[in-house]
Amino acid sequence: MAKGKKGVAKKTAASAPKKHKWQLPPSGGSMESADGLYFQNMTWRQIEKRLKKNDIIILPIGSTEAHGPHACPGEDTFLVTRMAEQVARVTGCTIAQPLWYGSHPYHHMGMPGTVLVPEDYFNGLLKSMMAGFWNAGFRKQILLNGHGQEYVIPTAIHQFAKHFQVPGVFINLNWYHAVRDSFKLKDQGGKYETNFIHADEVETSWSLALFPEFMDMKEAVDTKPRGYMPDGHIDKAGNLLNRPVAWYGQVGCGPVEISAYPEGCVGKSTLADADKAKEGINDLLDYMVKLHDDLLKTFPVGKLPPANEICERPKAEIDSLLKKPLSKGWKSIYSLGYPF
Ligand SMILES: [Zn+2]
Repeated sequence: MAKGKKGVAKKTAASAPKKHKWQLPPSGGSMESADGLYFQNMTWRQIEKRLKKNDIIILPIGSTEAHGPHACPGEDTFLVTRMAEQVARVTGCTIAQPLWYGSHPYHHMGMPGTVLVPEDYFNGLLKSMMAGFWNAGFRKQILLNGHGQEYVIPTAIHQFAKHFQVPGVFINLNWYHAVRDSFKLKDQGGKYETNFIHADEVETSWSLALFPEFMDMKEAVDTKPRGYMPDGHIDKAGNLLNRPVAWYGQVGCGPVEISAYPEGCVGKSTLADADKAKEGINDLLDYMVKLHDDLLKTFPVGKLPPANEICERPKAEIDSLLKKPLSKGWKSIYSLGYPF
């Protein structure tokens, strides 16, 4: 790729993601392993070496949420950690240990097994993670989300940017948005009999393909999703149906989970099968590698978007923030304030 001014690569047209061979299901996870994937599991010396080779970090943003009798409440979190692990093994980027607690829409309130974090605290936690990892040297961050909180996360990114005004790249990737065509129904040429909602045929299939050891299909049950309005107005999970009203853009057009679906799944989880999800997961992981690679080609290790184009801070202030941590003249990001 051609280099533009200041070593930042010039923009080229997007190409299709390269195909990789992924292992599904993976043989276990890495959250307690010393295999160099997770930031918290490495020594500081190892982290310093990593930063010289690859300064991208994936922040898996999960939740603790009821997903039915057949599934673990950590489902949304394991989905994103297992995805991130496969991508980090191929690309050499780093993963942060996940955020286990998230923000939930109103209709999940009251479900046993669901831990709701108020939106302001959740945003504060996201901004704290972004600031801490920026300060450690990971200034290209992919917030990989696996839960219905995609309407909250961008607020944290924009509040962080408005407050700190420092160069960096902060991307919120919701896995279901990266591979929208993977959720088609059988009569549309897809693999599923029902549309993606929650803990259902689709989400359970993806979980079976990524962490079957935490699932028990003997316990799976079905429920019948319903709304008060005629079909066609309100979208379903991920807004994958392109309907006029986003799934999170309303309250009152359907019953809450605790009254209509106390089982914890909304849809037919008994129809789930790992094979239905594998092609979609392959496409997603291929895309994530492409996102990583394009990010690193555009901003090679140590390079960031031009500060004079993306923020209003004086150059001298930016220069001291970007010095090697703890070196002479370095200032931490917290010298700019502590806003949370
Ligand atoms: Zn979920």
